[in-house]
Amino acid sequence: MSERVNVTELFGMNVFNDKVMRERLPREVYRRLKKTVNEGYELDPTIADSVAQAMKEWAIENGATHYTHWFQPLTGITAEKHDSFISAPDSEGKVMMEFSGKELVRSETDASSFPSGGLRATFEARGYTVWDCTSPAFLRREGEAVTLCIPTAFCSYTGEALDQKTPLLRSMQAVNEQALRVLRLFGNTSSKNVKPSVGAEQEYFLIDREKYLKRKDLIYTGRTLFGVMPAKGQELDDHYFGVIRKRIAAFMRDVDLELWKLGVSAKTEHNEAAPAQHELAPIYDEANLAADHNQLVMETLKKAAGRHGLECLLHEKPFEGVNGSGKHNNWSLTTDDGINLLNPGVTPHENVQFLLVLSCILAAVDIHADLLRLSAADVGNDHRLGADEAPPAIISVFLGTQLEDVVEQLIGTGYATNSKRGKNLKTGVTTLPDLDADVTDRNRTSPFAFTGNKFEFRMVGSSDSIASTNTILNTIVAEQFKAAADRLENAADFQLELHDLIKELLSKHERIIFNGNGYSEEWVAEAARRGLPNLPSMVDAIPALTTEKAIRLFSEFDIYTESELRSRSAVEFEQYAKVINIEARAMINIAGKQIIPAVIRYNTRLADSVNKVRAACAEADVSVQLGLLTRSSRLLRELQDRREQLLFDVERSLRIRDAEERAHAYHDLVAADMEALRAPADQLEGIVDKDLWPFPSYGDLIFEVSEQ
Ligand code: ADP
Ligand code: MG
Repeated sequence: MSERVNVTELFGMNVFNDKVMRERLPREVYRRLKKTVNEGYELDPTIADSVAQAMKEWAIENGATHYTHWFQPLTGITAEKHDSFISAPDSEGKVMMEFSGKELVRSETDASSFPSGGLRATFEARGYTVWDCTSPAFLRREGEAVTLCIPTAFCSYTGEALDQKTPLLRSMQAVNEQALRVLRLFGNTSSKNVKPSVGAEQEYFLIDREKYLKRKDLIYTGRTLFGVMPAKGQELDDHYFGVIRKRIAAFMRDVDLELWKLGVSAKTEHNEAAPAQHELAPIYDEANLAADHNQLVMETLKKAAGRHGLECLLHEKPFEGVNGSGKHNNWSLTTDDGINLLNPGVTPHENVQFLLVLSCILAAVDIHADLLRLSAADVGNDHRLGADEAPPAIISVFLGTQLEDVVEQLIGTGYATNSKRGKNLKTGVTTLPDLDADVTDRNRTSPFAFTGNKFEFRMVGSSDSIASTNTILNTIVAEQFKAAADRLENAADFQLELHDLIKELLSKHERIIFNGNGYSEEWVAEAARRGLPNLPSMVDAIPALTTEKAIRLFSEFDIYTESELRSRSAVEFEQYAKVINIEARAMINIAGKQIIPAVIRYNTRLADSVNKVRAACAEADVSVQLGLLTRSSRLLRELQDRREQLLFDVERSLRIRDAEERAHAYHDLVAADMEALRAPADQLEGIVDKDLWPFPSYGDLIFEVSEQ
């Protein structure tokens, strides 16, 4: 690759974006497609053929031979089914490159290998992928092979959602509709739509690939199941924003170029808190695009790492003893004409609207804290949430001193008469302060923090899709907007009703606001006093999906039917048990085939040494060898016993038929046994000679890359 790149030319070159469509589509077709995209109408089937034709020509000119419907099944990653453009040969044996509107818009997929939680009966294995025309098609290059990827939603024969995308799109419609009603109340007649804007910051680890390949735990589970931090850990804090080493820098440049070509605006990159940990942030986009782009970011990081002899770990907790990785989901609501509903604004009238929006969000988060927590639940994240690094498993909102002060005044007297700037502003009956986005302070420990003109939800796991978090955010906020609009549209005195509503919402949901240290013990106790849910594990969080409250919420806005919710809950429980099962089996294997033999070799070496030393000199002191031998033999015994206990509990848990019960068994028994097994192994790693230890240590894995 040449040293100089023209980013403007490069950006989006692999995307069938607006520019390409304008150039290649007949004017009328372009106009109608744009209308569909901008205003959320259904795609007119009569233009599909024309769009498909242009898309195919563009793809083929760029070297594509295949196309695929790209979708996000419930496993959290993306899936695809490739077809070539080639038609059946004609009578002269000639083939054509074909791609019809029908093939663009819809594809039948054998869906039986994707989780459905019982939605799809086994005899009905068909699933359908349907083009999401609001997310542009793109080309994926893999060496010589070029594939046209069409972002799609994935549903069953009967129309039930089997993916992450469909509910997200439904939730965007819901929040759009209700937010517009709120805007109209404040006299806005010009905005045509409101869309959630999302920027997902992605954390990840980079390690040397050769060393990675020597660790079966990393290969099979994405995290280390054994291992201890060396003396030099994270406490030195010298990695954070440190010089990005040469190899990493080359990797990052590669990632940026790839992403830019795909139209993903990768923006900031820096080293994170833990050694070998990094972060990538794109510029925010509409929620469904952001969700697609985040999948591309993860995919690109993985692939680019391979090209640089590195391995990218997206697991939430690859290493014990240093920070894990998350995804910060920055979320706001923006109109087509550029108004951010979460911007406090500069005029009093915007302030009142902002305070209503804020009150609605606080109410939404308080009422559905359990759902938000659930949206960040994945197996790996259990190691992060509730540990003393990432946001705790308790949902609370950080507003910052200025806003908290305003909220207190509104709750106290019903009027806020002063603000940081000390101005008094009159708006009807309400006296409101002039809010200023720039004075927001920071709190890194809050799971849901107001950061000037957006909320930052920090709980999402690094390997997880951001789709479900945004689906839930959009829906719970739509519910509050709807309640507010229902009430205010019919108010005899709008100003008075508005004032009462804001005061009511804030008083009722004030308990969700917490500006202190979210990592502290005191907060856990305080949150319990306030009655806020604390759901430390994924298995505790899943039932939030199927409460009466959740079923009512999601069916009111047509996001999920009750059967979709039940199927998702079943999928999540199954997923939990499956992942822990894989981890447990990997541990049993590694302990049995690698660690135990290594310890036996070490013990034999010690015993040989004792014999040889004694043979040479009967009076020699061999107490050190004997001490080590006693200790490592004791630990070896412990290791073997715990390995057997784990094996026993895995087999017992695996036989439980009910998915929820099985998941609990994996959580209570198997995960606990795994921790127990790890302890003696980690102690042994500290004793056994390095040349005998069967795989690279933490020191080898995470310091060497960052030192290069
Ligand atoms: P901060 O330092 O406040 O976290 P950054 O400027 O680093 O903010 O941005 C973090 C992420 O938030 C980026 O992905 C950015 O594009 C995104 N972001 C910025 N403004 C908004 C907004 N209004 N809505 C959603 N995301 C936003
Ligand atoms: Mg941030």
